[in-house]
Amino acid sequence: MNKPDSDNWHKIGLFGGTFDPIHHGHLIVAEWLQHELQLKKVFFIPNYIHPFRKRSDIVQPEHRLKMTRLAIRNFDDFEVSDFEIRKGGVSYTIDTIEHFKERFPNARIYYFIGVDNLSEFHKWRRYRDILNEAQLVVYNRPENAPTVDLPRDKIMFLKTPLIEISSTMIRERLKQNKPVKSLLPAPVYDYICEHGLYR
Ligand code: ATP
Repeated sequence: MNKPDSDNWHKIGLFGGTFDPIHHGHLIVAEWLQHELQLKKVFFIPNYIHPFRKRSDIVQPEHRLKMTRLAIRNFDDFEVSDFEIRKGGVSYTIDTIEHFKERFPNARIYYFIGVDNLSEFHKWRRYRDILNEAQLVVYNRPENAPTVDLPRDKIMFLKTPLIEISSTMIRERLKQNKPVKSLLPAPVYDYICEHGLYR
């Protein structure tokens, strides 16, 4: 396992997702990894079009962006990037990493993925370049992680607390008129109610 850098490089974390909607599970991961890796900032990056997932009912990117902004507004070390949404089209991680490398030429970039994404990682566009240009951080249940034929020395495995909340669960509960208020930050909940999302 790679050790976190101990020097004074600026280290930033990138956390991509559909965030449809963002929930406490996402915030727990980001806060935990930010501290464990001593990152200067964590950028939440809502995607425009996910390369694999073909759900047709994803809410508009502007709503997802606003909800993500609302969710992180009390966290000093978190920021939202609208790069993928502004770029449009399919959101490929390598493009995002290259954008951040240009924006922060001296930073070491940590890219977070959940262990559930690892088995497909070798299908990501230019995945070898991702591994060379950023430090891949795989969180949760590291002991069970299948790495296919990925070079294990390029992947950092970290444990975070697990909370069984997903955006899918929240969307389904809202559709069924079941309560979700405790599953996401209050301003996100209010935003969903105000705009009648996921009904
Ligand atoms: P969906 O249910 O729509 O697939 P999701 O809740 O998994 O959504 P994404 O927007 O796909 O949310 O999340 C981005 C990343 O956050 C993914 O890599 C996913 O593994 C991770 N993630 C989602 N929910 C949790 C959770 N409860 N704990 C830890 N990581 C999570």
